[in-house]
Amino acid sequence: MRLIATEEAFAPREYFEEYLKLAETLDTAEARYLKMYYKGPLVERLSDMDVRLAEMDRFGVDMHLLGITAPGVQAFAPQLGGDMAERANDELAKVIRAHPTRFAGLGAVAPQDPERAAGEVKRIMTELKLGGVIINSHTQGDFLDAEKVSPLLEALVAHDAPLYIHPNFPPPSMVGPYSDYGMMGALWGFGAECSLHVVRMIMAGVFDRFPKLKVVLGHLGEGLPFWLDRLDNRYANILRRGGLEPLGMRKLERLPSEYFRTNFHITTSGMNTTAPLEFALKMFGPDRIMFAIDYPYEQTEEAVGFLRSASLDAGALRKIAHETAETVFNIASVQDRVSV
Ligand code: MN
Repeated sequence: MRLIATEEAFAPREYFEEYLKLAETLDTAEARYLKMYYKGPLVERLSDMDVRLAEMDRFGVDMHLLGITAPGVQAFAPQLGGDMAERANDELAKVIRAHPTRFAGLGAVAPQDPERAAGEVKRIMTELKLGGVIINSHTQGDFLDAEKVSPLLEALVAHDAPLYIHPNFPPPSMVGPYSDYGMMGALWGFGAECSLHVVRMIMAGVFDRFPKLKVVLGHLGEGLPFWLDRLDNRYANILRRGGLEPLGMRKLERLPSEYFRTNFHITTSGMNTTAPLEFALKMFGPDRIMFAIDYPYEQTEEAVGFLRSASLDAGALRKIAHETAETVFNIASVQDRVSV
């Protein structure tokens, strides 16, 4: 069975010097994370495609959908961030051209300059022919409900580009209580930041303005599937009490969960246990769920072992393992490739 992993981190090798330089300018837990992670073997695994291919081969992973690793390009000044996005996308396209059956990719954009980011979406989807776009969640404290990023969202819709919103460290406006006990990163802060981002988008009416916007979330939806009924219930409750205006809320065209069910796909990155997957399957079905490892931060062996041993019917397994990803990210199926 073909296995496509859909949240697989990479960055050009020289970017890690930029990340460490950035860390020198910050006195935050994020800086400590960057200095802890971005040295030695992990940099090798993120940037060297032969090292990566050997691991894929060892565990039977056919394809990685590559996306730029955190902090990506969004923490930098607009000009540098935009330049880094374009260079990373060129490099990504080159890697895919060299290994078209092993890699697909998501292009990076720098929303610091929304017009330039919109132009890059067009280049990503037409000239570079990548599978979609990735952002590492908030951009220096701004989220995608901000009016100023409309050109970027318009471009995503115009080019039918799925947007993978990958978690990030909480921005300064929220990080305070997450800074202790190592909670700022993937342990808790990532999911808290990313789910906040998405709930902001839903409650701001972003999906009323852009009903065709497609979003992909890792980590089985960053906790949101479990919370959807509550969003609906509380939203309806506030509506009944006439609370929209006093609370500065918007009247939405649909219930919050309906946007999640129609505009979102989720991946299994870092979530290798049975109960959450069964819950997600019950909520959304296998047409909205895709396999992911989160290489190199999670273990390929564990993720692959979990999927292969999960008690799924053959149809659901095929969808999660590769078919849903082929559809969402426009990856040629094996059959298409053979017939070309
Ligand atoms: Mn990840």
